[in-house]
Amino acid sequence: MNATEFKRHGKEMVDYIIHYLQTVEHRRVTPDVKPGYMRKLLPSKAPEKPERWESIFSDIERVIMPGITHWQHPRFHAYFPAGNAYPSILGDMLSDAIGCIGFSWAASPACTELETIVLDWVGRMIGLPRHLLSLSDGARGGGVIQGSASECILVSLLAARTEAMRKLKCLHPDIDEYVLLSKLVAYCSTQTHSSAEKAGRIAYVRMRLLPTDDKGSLRGKTVDEAMKRDKKNGLIPIYVCGTLGTTASCAFDNLKEIGYVCIKNNTWFHVDAAYAGSAFICPEFRYLLEGIEYVTSLNINPNKWMLVNFDCSLMWIKDRSLLINAFDVDPVYLRHENAGVAIDYRHWGIPLSRRFRSLKIWFVVRSYGVDGLRKYIRNHVKLAKKFEALVLTDSRFEVIGDVVMGLVCFRLKGRNALTENLVKTINASGRIHITPASLGDMYIIRFALCHEHACEADVVIAWKIIVEITDDLLNVSDV
Ligand code: PLP
Repeated sequence: MNATEFKRHGKEMVDYIIHYLQTVEHRRVTPDVKPGYMRKLLPSKAPEKPERWESIFSDIERVIMPGITHWQHPRFHAYFPAGNAYPSILGDMLSDAIGCIGFSWAASPACTELETIVLDWVGRMIGLPRHLLSLSDGARGGGVIQGSASECILVSLLAARTEAMRKLKCLHPDIDEYVLLSKLVAYCSTQTHSSAEKAGRIAYVRMRLLPTDDKGSLRGKTVDEAMKRDKKNGLIPIYVCGTLGTTASCAFDNLKEIGYVCIKNNTWFHVDAAYAGSAFICPEFRYLLEGIEYVTSLNINPNKWMLVNFDCSLMWIKDRSLLINAFDVDPVYLRHENAGVAIDYRHWGIPLSRRFRSLKIWFVVRSYGVDGLRKYIRNHVKLAKKFEALVLTDSRFEVIGDVVMGLVCFRLKGRNALTENLVKTINASGRIHITPASLGDMYIIRFALCHEHACEADVVIAWKIIVEITDDLLNVSDV
């Protein structure tokens, strides 16, 4: 494809994207295909000769779209939102065109410097304390973009392990380090995202899943007692992963209580705020950040709730040397003369190569302004309240937990099987998409506000569909 053809096809693609996003509501929200559907549509071997662009382009509708779950559909209420906005798409386009691989400052200074500045911007937007930011030369803290919240949790656990081992080796120089490693223990709650459990497996550190209170919140006393028990048995607590906005029910761990326990026990305290973190741009939610001063590191996903496209997970740390000590490997071919003066983000995480992801955050924040982003978040929160009110009008249902942000959890009263069947039937209909979760032994429906321009009518339509399907199901089971 030459530049002239790219210009033409690029414009066609932009037209296609706009048309897709403006008309997506006329499609089924979930695809109606079976595993392996695509094999029947594509040849088994790659083409030997170049194909015409027109033929490739027409395969988007023939091959790809039938198998798409439309996350940008106004009836998509599953999981959490997948951020998407035109300025963000433009940011990714430019990043792809520049095509730099910003692993060190020298590999593309703008890529590193914009990342540092934008992380400070967003950190200030959500009310983080100064010591987590890179605001001045010589700052100890700072922010970095990782690929996902799972990666942030893993990176923080690996760095906590390195730091704990450094201290333990000083204290016990005669004990084999593999013996020390076998004693490490980390903590999260039964409501923490499964990526913490996975991080424990990868890092080979025991991860204890502690019980929460009846609001799904992990409390300091629970962590304290677990650490005491483990220490009594000769184990060494090194890390706690707390959550602000759990996946199942958007519950909030008590940072102040847990933070105090972490300080007392000299352990790393990471906070995963993948979904809810974006909402802290609204001051009315900042009360949930009480205790943030105790935190060692924290992550939020603007690619969930700040209109930035995947991938974009932001991680802040109070002392960047904790990451650098864990990840700095320095072969000659990666060195440059400004090393040590400038930030080299390859030392702040796992991959070497890094995309220019800060561009899309920069475009989004400037295009909407913090005020525009606040309006977006508040609209979702208001609509969640509206949906909760609708659920409460129907005595067959119960709302589970508090509706604090853009997620409503509810269920049919009675046996779990009723709600399970309802979820299955709703999703099979292709009219709206929702996902379930379990809270203790309760099976619940999660209804998330996801669409950028969601409005009251969307919530009313979704509720009508749920009621219709419930009527059908309960009538049939009555017969
Ligand atoms: N943490 C929370 C609270 C989440 O809700 C999720 C995903 O929804 C994750 C972590 C994992 O996010 P990622 O897909 O960025 O790894």
